[in-house]
Amino acid sequence: MTTCAVYARVSTDEQAEKYGLAAQAHELRALAATKGYRVVDEFLDDGHSGATLDRPALARLRDAVRAGAIEVVLAHDPDRLSRKLAHQLLLLEELEARSRVEFLTTTRAATPEGGLLLNIKGVVAEYERLKIVERTTRGKREKARRGLVVASYPYGYRPDPASPGRLVVHEEEASVVRLIHAWLIEEGKTTRKIVDELRRLGVPPSRAGRRWGPTQVRRILGSDRYTGRVFYNRDAIGAHGRRRRPATEWIEVAIPAIVTQETHAAAKAVLARNRAAYVGRPARFTYMLRGLLRCGACGARYVSCPQHGRRCYRCHGHDRFALTAGCRAPMISANVAEAEVWTTVADALRNPATLRAGVEAWAAQRGANDVDLRARVEALARKLRGVEGKEKRLLDLYVEDGIAKGEVAARLRALTREREGLRGDLGRAEAQVAAHDADGGRLAALDRWAAKARRGIDRLDAAGRQKVLQHLVDEIVVGADRSLKITGILPTETDQSLLSLPS
Ligand SMILES: [Zn+2]
Repeated sequence: MTTCAVYARVSTDEQAEKYGLAAQAHELRALAATKGYRVVDEFLDDGHSGATLDRPALARLRDAVRAGAIEVVLAHDPDRLSRKLAHQLLLLEELEARSRVEFLTTTRAATPEGGLLLNIKGVVAEYERLKIVERTTRGKREKARRGLVVASYPYGYRPDPASPGRLVVHEEEASVVRLIHAWLIEEGKTTRKIVDELRRLGVPPSRAGRRWGPTQVRRILGSDRYTGRVFYNRDAIGAHGRRRRPATEWIEVAIPAIVTQETHAAAKAVLARNRAAYVGRPARFTYMLRGLLRCGACGARYVSCPQHGRRCYRCHGHDRFALTAGCRAPMISANVAEAEVWTTVADALRNPATLRAGVEAWAAQRGANDVDLRARVEALARKLRGVEGKEKRLLDLYVEDGIAKGEVAARLRALTREREGLRGDLGRAEAQVAAHDADGGRLAALDRWAAKARRGIDRLDAAGRQKVLQHLVDEIVVGADRSLKITGILPTETDQSLLSLPS
């Protein structure tokens, strides 16, 4: 027997009239009986306007249909679903993806209204594209607002059997999460090493049938959820990739914490440092300048490259797969370059005044950039909101009043282009701000490192030197003549002038 759900709605205005909710529901049940449908559920919105989609019974109906429990949806007429044609279309398309919608009073295509619906379908397709995010996330947003976990449970947690939508800590997995953090922060293990270790110990991976991999480990280390909160509605995913929404739109859901805020911050800092340090292929030798060297000719990274047992650095643009010839920048000897850079930096370290001046200049520069960047992000976001508003007003006009279509369509296309352009700009600006924020931890770490480094500067091994360099140097540009231009916290651009400083 065909399963069927009944949907009825009256607005506050209609409530007073004789044609009420009970009457609608009664008629629909009768209709179901004559058609031989079994009514499995009734969804009644009492006192809700048809102008909005935000109606509790409608929301439950959409969920039920999506769940696949309902074969036919019965309503009195399309108006019950929505007063707005655009919304009717959205709903019909959504509901009819999993069920059939039938009306008591009209056969849709045969009526003038039905015909009109079909005619404007093309227009509304664009509208729908804009709305698609709203549709798919509506239920999740609601759930998150009620403090419930929306996505599937993350590693380290299980759904709370006693309380749907809540999570409880899975103790074994939680201890693995803590262990991974400790390996990274306290033992300085790389992500790759952590993966090896997890596999060696036979720790069960987060999902059955899969092996531990760097992505999984990085996801655990990089996620702030283990500090006890998850955010919903934090990222918007559009044509230009993932974009952070303004913090006011985030919905925070509390979950039990597994690591402390401090541990998370420390892990983030180490990961950021490692990312910079391990650009290029993994090498058998220690390459002190890995991730720091950049080609002055083409702008690509210099990567480590052993040549017959000799350690060298070479421009990554050299062997790029492209139709154009590779970069001709010179290969440099690692021993020579490292000694040169280290002498420069060590001398600067021995001279605290020089170092402090450099730090202050760097911080001032960074602060100025930061203000500029944030202002730009705000300006772009404002502009984007303006364009989106215009677009929406135009669409509403288009859909509801059917004004001169050709002209409006052209203006819509122009607005869409403008919006896409703005989104792209905004996404890039936001990424820059995020990169800046990651830099913040560097300054504090620098003091510790400099003090330590001064004490034992001549006893540092290659790994220790590498760590010092990671904190002091932003980048080293390799010139065509193999000269090295160091930028970062160091005050001067050329090694020569630093080398001549009194120590
Ligand atoms: Zn190059």
